Amino acid sequence: TPLIEARDVELAFGETPALRGASLAAGAGEVLAVMGPSGSGKSTLLHCLAGILVPDRGEVLFDGKRIDTLDENRRSALRRDRFGFVFQFGQLVPELTAEENIALPLLLSGVRRAAALADARPWFARLGLDGLERRRSGELSGGQAQRVALARGLVTRPRVLFADEPTGALDSLTGEQVMELMVAAARDQGTTVVLVTHEPRVAAYADREAVVRDGRARTLSTGHPAGSAPA
Ligand code: ADP
Ligand code: ADP
Repeated sequence: TPLIEARDVELAFGETPALRGASLAAGAGEVLAVMGPSGSGKSTLLHCLAGILVPDRGEVLFDGKRIDTLDENRRSALRRDRFGFVFQFGQLVPELTAEENIALPLLLSGVRRAAALADARPWFARLGLDGLERRRSGELSGGQAQRVALARGLVTRPRVLFADEPTGALDSLTGEQVMELMVAAARDQGTTVVLVTHEPRVAAYADREAVVRDGRARTLSTGHPAGSAPA
């Protein structure tokens, strides 16, 4: 059974239909790339899966249980305890240091500062960020900032990492490095990745691809083995 799933999800913003019966599923430990043209509904679908938006119709299930019927407090707790997020523009707190930014989700979960910073520490070596622990994140390069954002998304060991165009603001080489690190780190800890991208080279890191068009989703097999790099 899938770990995270949308079934026939419909959602409109006022008069604008964004999702018109979209279904999508990702299994435990799987990397799923969600592709499709701009405006097709990819971000909206990701927000529904992550419990940020509630669909008008249809169901969203996590671990076999509906989450779209939970109230905002419970969905917020689920996001904090089970999900991680990486966005196109890192959305780091620029005044905080890199290690404080990585530790932030732990601090928000009530972990004490020393313990949270200790959990943040191994990510610097893992992501090639050694020496940047005390750097204010506003002073990092784009690629460094996105690696910090990635560590922040994974530091709580989430069941699902939601990544919305995580390499969209980076040049292609830097983007590929971030993508490789993201997939490797997620596989290491068994985290499922739902990755929105419009770049085929980025999607090539996924186990499966879904294509969203006009608010509907279709899932394809990528035909390349799990974890392989793009040709
Ligand atoms: P994608 O991620 O594929 O670019 P989106 O999910 O962002 O697509 O958007 C799908 C459709 O919904 C688009 O027509 C977009 O303009 C619209 N939309 C998205 N977010 C909002 C919003 N907050 N308010 C109004 N319309 C929105
Ligand atoms: P992406 O598709 O990468 O998420 P967008 O630029 O489409 O980025 O959307 C950025 C933000 O603006 C999102 O929060 C989205 O919900 C919102 N948004 C997108 N389209 C519209 C729209 N037509 N009206 C209002 N808000 C929108």
